[in-house]
Amino acid sequence: MLLSLHEETTQKVLDEYKLTNYRYQGVISGCVANDLCALTNEYSLVRKHAWKPNSIKSIGFLEDSTFYQSHWGELSALHSMARGGGIAAVDTQSDIVSWLAFLEFLHYNANKSILVSEISTFGTHLGGYVEELDFRVGDLLDTMDYRLARLRSLGMILHIVEDSYTKSHCNRSMDSGLINQFYAYNEQSSTKHRKSDKVNPRMQKVLESRLHTVIKTLMINNSKLDYSQIIDISHDATTSGGGPYAK
Ligand SMILES: [Zn+2]
Repeated sequence: MLLSLHEETTQKVLDEYKLTNYRYQGVISGCVANDLCALTNEYSLVRKHAWKPNSIKSIGFLEDSTFYQSHWGELSALHSMARGGGIAAVDTQSDIVSWLAFLEFLHYNANKSILVSEISTFGTHLGGYVEELDFRVGDLLDTMDYRLARLRSLGMILHIVEDSYTKSHCNRSMDSGLINQFYAYNEQSSTKHRKSDKVNPRMQKVLESRLHTVIKTLMINNSKLDYSQIIDISHDATTSGGGPYAK
């Protein structure tokens, strides 16, 4: 989903709460951090480049960068997608739910020492690959300010939930709302993906209600969520692939 659509969707939901400007802007900047993480703290400076792979490469971001991996590989869970083709839906669901639980942990526990620590501290939850990535949790959240980090963690959760309702990220049943298949970006044509990188209008209200559930639980009730109830798959979900957006 384009950054502007993430911002628009998140703003619409947040507008129903009386939040200070600091909290509001913190969550909004977090809802685009999934696309910009580990690039720079000046997220506004890179957003004009960030979704163009060629310009990313030309300005020196190589294939092991967090951004690259979050779109073409191991960190695809940050966008509710599979890390490749042929992966069982339960495995992709588990990747995504682990990231959501980790971000929820950061929302409640981020402090200065966690922000400077290696992300490998959390490798058991997030899979072996993250242990090899040489970045700090503060880089992931594009900030070393722990108050902002907590708000951005929540924004990143909203991003993942929004992407799970995006047509070219997964196939959700129009009847049950359950996910039938996760797609893998490296199996897709980027042009086809982009054209359908939005929420089906029939699912918009359901998505908004789920975003409200996340915000109420984490910002109002200060409790925890079972994210497998949000990244909810049907019992006969198929393995990942490019879907109708395949190359
Ligand atoms: Zn995304």
